[in-house]
Amino acid sequence: MMRTHRAGELRRDHAGATVAVCGWVATRRDHGGVVFLDVRDAAGVVQVVVDPEAPGAEVAHRVRSEFVVRVEGEVRPRPEGTVNEELPTGEVEVAAQRLEVLSEAEAPPIPIGGRQEADELLRYRYRYLDLRGDRLQRNLRQRAVVNRVLRRVMDGHGFVEVETPMLIASMPEGARDFVVPSRLQPGSFYALPQSPQLFKQLLMVGGFDRYYQIARCLRDEDPRSDRQFEFMQFDIEMSFVDGEDVMAVVTEAAVTAAEEATGELPGAVERITWHDAMERYGTDKPDLRFGLELVDLGEVFAATEFRAFQAPAVKGIRVPGEGGVARARLDALIERAKQLGAAGLVWMRVGEAGALDSPVAKFLSEAEQLGLVDALGAGSGDLLLLVAGERAIANRVLGTLRLDLARPPVDEGGLRFVWVVEFPLFEGLDDEGRPIPAHHPFTMPHPDDLELLASGQGEELLAARSQSYDLVLNGWELGSGSVRIHRADMQQQVFTALGITPEDAQVRFGFLLDAFRYGAPPHAGFAIGVDRFAAVLAGEENIREVVAFPKTQSGADPLTGAPTPLDPAQLKELGLQVVKRPEAKKPKS
Ligand code: ASP
Repeated sequence: MMRTHRAGELRRDHAGATVAVCGWVATRRDHGGVVFLDVRDAAGVVQVVVDPEAPGAEVAHRVRSEFVVRVEGEVRPRPEGTVNEELPTGEVEVAAQRLEVLSEAEAPPIPIGGRQEADELLRYRYRYLDLRGDRLQRNLRQRAVVNRVLRRVMDGHGFVEVETPMLIASMPEGARDFVVPSRLQPGSFYALPQSPQLFKQLLMVGGFDRYYQIARCLRDEDPRSDRQFEFMQFDIEMSFVDGEDVMAVVTEAAVTAAEEATGELPGAVERITWHDAMERYGTDKPDLRFGLELVDLGEVFAATEFRAFQAPAVKGIRVPGEGGVARARLDALIERAKQLGAAGLVWMRVGEAGALDSPVAKFLSEAEQLGLVDALGAGSGDLLLLVAGERAIANRVLGTLRLDLARPPVDEGGLRFVWVVEFPLFEGLDDEGRPIPAHHPFTMPHPDDLELLASGQGEELLAARSQSYDLVLNGWELGSGSVRIHRADMQQQVFTALGITPEDAQVRFGFLLDAFRYGAPPHAGFAIGVDRFAAVLAGEENIREVVAFPKTQSGADPLTGAPTPLDPAQLKELGLQVVKRPEAKKPKS
């Protein structure tokens, strides 16, 4: 038998047992003849003691860090005073009776588990060594728990796991496609799926009323801390339901996964409209772990003489106990607000009995000063920050300052889920004045806004709401979903608003419109980005810490060298010719 136990599993109960364990040598200490090896495997680390008289003792002098060894020996309690409380195996050690080297190792180019110090390129180049460390071992195992629970909950509700294709036609999810050249049809290309969106809708037409998949999705967008080119999406779709049914099932799946992965019960899952989220938090992904809500001061300053506050919106936040902050810090906040697009930032320090210390206090009436203190619930020692201007800008600036000033680190403050509902259907107008869809164009409009959609023009359309919903966890957007349009006539109406002609629509998603002609059930769905979810649960700021083989910021994979040029024969077979972009410069080294 190669091994009887995993090294990291040995406990006091095993004392007296003869065991065989295998693993990597984490450390080796030579104490004048007696050699101590810390042997690491997937379950943890155990101390092995090799006495000079033990058979194979000479091997112990030869092993080095990261050698793969097999040890046979007796588990014994550690001598008095040498118990290591930090280590789960810390009460025992294995007295080696036989030590074998299964594989030698060169000195590792990065410290195992010492990621903070190691250069990112090296970490990804030698990811298999990085993976041996505690943090990635823990994160990837926790991520597997998330997947397992999501599947279990869906299976429990009678969902069917269906796999959708990777080589598809380009479809609209709003991002750039990755494309794959076709060998059999030179000059034609497949797109890699940005999501299974249209296929899951077709599955509903196909009579599968509850679908799910943990699907690989690809989007050619610049990688960031919360985004990789490829990511996993927990994707669902349901027929004969409304948005409430979808949110209920997703809530159960997400909360159960979070609880089982972390051992921590998430707080109550809240719900807020998009409009209220923007007004109270200045963002569509509010972080509810802390207060500092944005307060509308429009009424307080309705008749103000102070020019700067004669604006479409005046909003403020109260930063408790920060009244004593230094002038330099306030100047930095003003600078930051301006960078974010505000005309300025007004600060006020609250003194005894609500007295305001601020460069603008003298321009405000007593009633305004009292009203302001009252509206913000301010007390002595607080700092107040106010922004006046366009409502959207005031909200965005204060929303960002709120995060800058008080957002807890990702691994603190518990787990706070919130549903953001009733998103606008459109997020703005393009250069030609056409609305840009906030989600994909298959999203059902809000029933109360259908008329607006039919008759509205330009800016007016921006008030139209959709039946879509996002799930947000601690200020991270975990995913989004919607009730879908299931009738060809309404789909055409939305396409028209988007400036997509019937001919265009037929070319791009004719197959979906065709399917709708043969009896489409009302349906709705959702998708959670598993990488982001796993990152928040693991307390990681960067999703690369929960991805086994990530790409760098520039989209490269230092391990396999991807992307690489193709050799001429391959290009020829695919009917491709590479044209150098004239502006392409050599990257700076
Ligand atoms: N396909 C959408 C997305 O990838 C999710 C959905 O609407 O179900 O964001």
